[in-house]
Amino acid sequence: MLSIIIPSYNEEKNIENTANVVSGIMEDNKIDYELVFVNDGSKDRTWEIISRLADERDNITGVNFSRNFGKESAIFAGLKEASGDACVLMDCDLQHPPQVIVEMYKIWKNNDNIDIVEGRKSSRGKENPIYKCFSLLFYKIIKSASGLDMKAASDFKLLDRKVVNNLNKMPERLTFFRAMSSWVGFNKEVVNFEVAERHEGESKWSTKSLIKYAINSISSFTSAPLHIVTVIGFIMFLCSIVLGIQTLWKFTHGSSEGFTTVILLILFTASLIMISLGIIGYYLSKIYEEIKCRPRYIISERKKSGNLK
Ligand code: UDP
Ligand code: MG
Repeated sequence: MLSIIIPSYNEEKNIENTANVVSGIMEDNKIDYELVFVNDGSKDRTWEIISRLADERDNITGVNFSRNFGKESAIFAGLKEASGDACVLMDCDLQHPPQVIVEMYKIWKNNDNIDIVEGRKSSRGKENPIYKCFSLLFYKIIKSASGLDMKAASDFKLLDRKVVNNLNKMPERLTFFRAMSSWVGFNKEVVNFEVAERHEGESKWSTKSLIKYAINSISSFTSAPLHIVTVIGFIMFLCSIVLGIQTLWKFTHGSSEGFTTVILLILFTASLIMISLGIIGYYLSKIYEEIKCRPRYIISERKKSGNLK
């Protein structure tokens, strides 16, 4: 069976349509499937619709979070709840074209050695140019820090049960699905897809949540910022030796002046120290969050269609 995991947050306008479209495609292609809707604490009627669909139709599993935990948590909840031999992750707004699932499924089914079929964006769809710049910068940092090229990567993927079991075993609270599914290894095949327009509603990511997501993802995957602090420290140390020698030389050859320089240097070093402390503090807070060992999400309710029970 193929489990199709769909994180949904305030998607009341999309749920039913997405269920219809995806079920239609699966049935046309005679693929045994289940739709796992994870309601990520929506404030609208999303859960109501999911539970109604689970009552009325076959092949629907619904999971309801006690509050909004974020898409990452919804993805991992879906992976945990899914019972298929392979799982596909897709967005609820049909920006990940569901026809591609069939292509992914066929590749997985026909090749015993392929465990991950990755969707790659051949274009990024319509995007604000400022976002585009920031996302390119974000991927550049990730690439130089971890060697993973994720510019065209997306959460649209098919994962074999083996991969899902390994992902389910990973205990960290702060997750970054795209990088983790690459970190686990296994044989991959790539399928290109065009990002479609959002079906209904608008993107759930505010600028603030995107920035938070980017910082979280970078820190959960690399400790490079901490090493950068050390490198800057060394560079400053070298500069201070040169400056020190120059000052001493001036001192022994008459009076040394430069009050402004002193103030500027103090301001400069103080701000660098503050930034460095901030970076260290950030990692410390992440460690604190991890050691609390709280669950990634809390499920308040589950629903399953009659045929899946
Ligand atoms: N989503 C979620 N929790 C959130 C935000 C988003 O589960 O806190 C889901 C959302 O319902 C959708 C998917 O993640 O299925 C992608 O969200 P969206 O389309 O808003 O993001 P974009 O396509 O703009 O990156
Ligand atoms: Mg979208």
